[in-house]
Amino acid sequence: MNRYDSERVYGLLVGRGWNPSFSPDEADLLIVNTCSVREKPAEKLFSFIGRFRKKAENGSLRIFVMGCVAQQLGDEIVKRAPFVSGVFGPGQESAIPDAVEHPTSPLVCTDPASLSATELFPPDYRHTWDGCCAAFVTIMHGCNNHCSYCIVPSVRGTEICRKVDDIIREIVSLVERGVREITLLGQNVTAYHDQETKTDFTHLLYRVGSVPALERIRFVTGHPRDFSVSLAKAFAHIPSLMPYLHLPAQSGSDRILEGMRRGYSVADYLEKISLVRSWCPDISLSSDFIVGFPGETEEDFTATLQLIREARYDTVFAFAYSPRPGTPAAQVAETVSEDEKHDRLHRLLAVQKEIMAVTRNRFVGRTVRVLVEGKSPSGDTMMGRNEHNQIVHIEKSSPADRGRIISVTITERLENTLRGTKIGNAP
Ligand code: SAH
Ligand code: SF4
Repeated sequence: MNRYDSERVYGLLVGRGWNPSFSPDEADLLIVNTCSVREKPAEKLFSFIGRFRKKAENGSLRIFVMGCVAQQLGDEIVKRAPFVSGVFGPGQESAIPDAVEHPTSPLVCTDPASLSATELFPPDYRHTWDGCCAAFVTIMHGCNNHCSYCIVPSVRGTEICRKVDDIIREIVSLVERGVREITLLGQNVTAYHDQETKTDFTHLLYRVGSVPALERIRFVTGHPRDFSVSLAKAFAHIPSLMPYLHLPAQSGSDRILEGMRRGYSVADYLEKISLVRSWCPDISLSSDFIVGFPGETEEDFTATLQLIREARYDTVFAFAYSPRPGTPAAQVAETVSEDEKHDRLHRLLAVQKEIMAVTRNRFVGRTVRVLVEGKSPSGDTMMGRNEHNQIVHIEKSSPADRGRIISVTITERLENTLRGTKIGNAP
């Protein structure tokens, strides 16, 4: 979501005549987008901007901070770092271009009231699309859930859904500019609802699925509690809906799930997984887990490992619990030490590694469709994603394939990615 918000601010500034700079050292304006979901990324802000303090103080650089840390800390940012010229919480991004042109520094815009607007950005923000073939589109912002550990509702506000027609217009315009894959974004997309047109998330998917020339649709994040039969069926009925589902479980222990206020049990979760597998047997599943939530015992943690084994995920994202200010869980004393959290994280990832060796090996020998995104970080091969959202490094592909869907035979499973050989353009 932050990447998408950054792209939108970038579009607004380019529309006013600004040019991108390829290094912060060469920039006249530095906008730092921030995440406050865990403490570490929030702390990174101050060490990052500290590097540019001298330039900001001598007037050769202006620094703005946007995103969730901006909302969470507000004035405190300019108190701690007086060389910052502007602070913009979510919902205030469209004020950035004016603030750049008419500086009244330091400017702190964090009024939570603006989080209730349906459209946080002016409709003409996307003057440019410099990206390749895959784009994000936010369909809603904020969240109405109250997971006890989570800071998102307090920094991003309550759930507001964009209008279906605005979403479709944005997607059509991206597709006209060469985008072939869209990821619909929201904290809780399965709760999407456009009151005016009575469109729920599944209906929205069917609408997006009918956009001509859009080849791939994905979405993040769905909530297990709202995952419906009609949504499971959509995986079988919408040809462009890709066989990939990120459905965060957070824990494999009912006791902990209750403390987290997630609104489902492990049995409910497993039922949702079987449901989606009954409509899309080969689907790739991924999940988020938090380890070391207050009260998590070794037994609870073992139950999480058990769920990971049962669910057979292709990918797992795991985080050490981080108490966030103002959340209900932060009022409860922590019971798991930092060392123990890291040990559990380590053990969880080791189990997932074993599972991945099995789940991902199923691709070796298969010929899959890969949307080529660009060069691999090593620079030796091109890379892209298969339909199951796995990164594939492709031999015998060239930069001319960028933006194309090609057929690739998978030859090897690497630690977190796949390697394959191009055999031609995909039918
Ligand atoms: N809306 C999404 C994701 C929200 S944040 C959802 O409900 O799944 C992304 C992930 O960060 C969460 O899934 C959770 O695993 C993790 N996370 C959120 N708050 C956290 C905290 N206080 N400590 C550690 N991890 C956290
Ligand atoms: Fe946070 Fe829960 Fe909302 Fe996700 S669903 S953003 S974890 S409150």
